[in-house]
Amino acid sequence: MCPPEDKPVANGNEEMVAIDLASAVKTNGHLNGGEKDKKGFYNRPSDFLSNTSNWQIIESTLREGEQFANAFFDLETKIKIAKALDEFGVEWIELTSPAASPESRAHCEAICNLGLKRSKILTHIRCHMDDARIAVETGVDGVDVVIGTSSFLREHSHGKDMSWITKTAIEVIQFVKSKGIEIRFSSEDSFRSELVDLLSIYRTVDKIGVNRVGVADTVGCADPRQVYELVRTLRGVVSCDIECHFHNDTGCAIANAYAALEAGATHIDTSVLGIGERNGITPLGGLIARMMVADPEYVKSKYNLTMLREVENIVAEAVEIQVPFNNYITGFCAFTHKAGIHAKAILANPSTYEILNPADFGMTRYVSIGHRLTGWNAVKSRVEQLNLTLTDEQIKDATAKIKELADVRTQSMEDVDMILRIYHTAVQEGKLKVGQSAVLDRLLEEHVNSRETSPNRNAKRQRVEEASA
Ligand SMILES: [Zn+2]
Repeated sequence: MCPPEDKPVANGNEEMVAIDLASAVKTNGHLNGGEKDKKGFYNRPSDFLSNTSNWQIIESTLREGEQFANAFFDLETKIKIAKALDEFGVEWIELTSPAASPESRAHCEAICNLGLKRSKILTHIRCHMDDARIAVETGVDGVDVVIGTSSFLREHSHGKDMSWITKTAIEVIQFVKSKGIEIRFSSEDSFRSELVDLLSIYRTVDKIGVNRVGVADTVGCADPRQVYELVRTLRGVVSCDIECHFHNDTGCAIANAYAALEAGATHIDTSVLGIGERNGITPLGGLIARMMVADPEYVKSKYNLTMLREVENIVAEAVEIQVPFNNYITGFCAFTHKAGIHAKAILANPSTYEILNPADFGMTRYVSIGHRLTGWNAVKSRVEQLNLTLTDEQIKDATAKIKELADVRTQSMEDVDMILRIYHTAVQEGKLKVGQSAVLDRLLEEHVNSRETSPNRNAKRQRVEEASA
């Protein structure tokens, strides 16, 4: 808050004081394990409640993801997804309520019987004893209970008041715990619920030993600052773990998840590619990308990151969508560099324009050079890959030709390679010198014409014509 105008700021000492942030972090007595000063870029001295280096994933593709418009998972597909998520290493896999349908119950039991190596199984039920009785019989490790607490849901959905919600919650929690199964209690539409109601019910369920409380932005209205404030307030009220669930209607789902962890949340709900109700929730890959920046070693130690692309491909195929071009980590252009100035710096040191290392995810960096924004440094790197010997002056000359041609149409990698090879051969044979643009044009034209009339090419063309006849 700003000080009033008539009061001096602090003690009136106007000298600038140098603050050693590194030692400030080290001497902060609240840090967990004294490790935080080594991590990432964003830890702040006061972040003693931050869990950006201590969190778990509740992977909800098989629950929230089933609510995606295109999703219809048969048992075989569910098992394939569950096994892939287990291999990736998510801590929890959440399944549709076994009370939803007889098939859902059979699927839930079958997945519990898989004996997955790393992931534990949760199911998601309404705050109701009938659902709870069915859930505990399926063999799950945990039950996620949810009920709407906003006035919208109380009025237009289940029609119950807060005292009924509290009484039922206590009954369900005590029953599930008596079976030796973990339990989470979550409000629905938390950001449009009364704060007093929320804190009061969370405090009550915390006291009776719930494992986690959940905060859910069911309609996707929250922003990171609201999330931070609510979770930080809740952190001061309950001692149990805090799970957060963010819908992505306004594009804040990943940022909200990160803000929640900074404020002291412990578990984040994700789905593969973010699929879910409407436009979905925090995507698994996007959360991983975000958390890799916060603490790469922690993320790498927990998850088999090279599995990410496979998990996404399995789910994309199952729900008949393409992985988006701009997807975090695995989108086709996620590690493609195009502008000449970027390409030059990337070739010298990838960290210049990359916050994530593609190799960590089994991906490769790609420098695009067949366009009019290309630079000679990027072309030089390709010349070296092709094992050609050209001077810098010659490479600059060849680059000028690539840019000239790319002004007409983008050149494929094959086109660029052809130009470089022809340039190289012509220089070796003494047919070309730097600056002889017209000579190079003629050589390229001759090459194209010879390809057009080559017997191989004609035979291939004939085959294509026959096939399409
Ligand atoms: Zn949801």
